[in-house]
Amino acid sequence: MAEPLLKVEHLQKSYGNKRVLEDISFEVDEGSVVVLLGPSGSGKSTLIRCLNGLEVFQSGSIVFNGETVQSSQKNWRRLRQQIGMVFQSYDLFPNMTVMENILLGPMKVQKRKKDEAARQALSLLKEVGMEQYAEAYPRELSGGQKQRVAIVRALELNPRLMLFDEVTASLDPEMVRGVLEIILRLAKENMTMIVVTHEMNFARQIGDKILFLEDGKILEQTPGSQFFARPQTDRAKKFLESMD
Ligand code: ADP
Ligand code: MG
Repeated sequence: MAEPLLKVEHLQKSYGNKRVLEDISFEVDEGSVVVLLGPSGSGKSTLIRCLNGLEVFQSGSIVFNGETVQSSQKNWRRLRQQIGMVFQSYDLFPNMTVMENILLGPMKVQKRKKDEAARQALSLLKEVGMEQYAEAYPRELSGGQKQRVAIVRALELNPRLMLFDEVTASLDPEMVRGVLEIILRLAKENMTMIVVTHEMNFARQIGDKILFLEDGKILEQTPGSQFFARPQTDRAKKFLESMD
């Protein structure tokens, strides 16, 4: 058996004396998609942010690609470059064009040559139907278009793992499908991903494994095919009913 790409062991996280993540353990196999479900406030975003080094955690460990990291360690910075993240808010720099937004990371952090990085950016923009917007500014784009650019910006760094935290939550309904389709296509191309979503049909389509969180704990960890047909806990059953 191949080692999982990501292994989280007994992760604990508190804000002050408020425990937000408790004994979180799970694995993400290379090429698989893990979907995080759970009510608002259950700790999904905090967990995602811990995995990208945006939050420190108090105990437990994260093993990424065979290397163990604690949030303060130096090697975490290098490993983090291999983890792409897209949030609910697109946070593109407003005073930069689409292309400039995309090239910032590869040139500054990865020290890549502009020509080569721009070629990849254009090809990624093409894949998401945005190549004609390379010189546009974020204010000229719809929410769905900005989110496509944010996805391209993350993919441009050639990540081994992508994290998506409710990336369609602030989009108009007619924009949602297009963005979800891009993520579904990435899954088909075997991108390893952790996805937080409230779109249950999408979760069912994409999730190889479902983690159901409540109050900072994993209540259920089930193959996607099984979770939606037969959730193991009453709590998950109620949650699914409330999403209908
Ligand atoms: P979810 O993404 O599942 O809605 P969050 O991870 O955002 O949940 O939040 C989990 C819990 O942590 C909530 O109770 C929230 O109020 C708390 N929390 C999140 N961020 C902070 C913070 N920066 N300071 C204090 N508490 C926080
Ligand atoms: Mg959240």
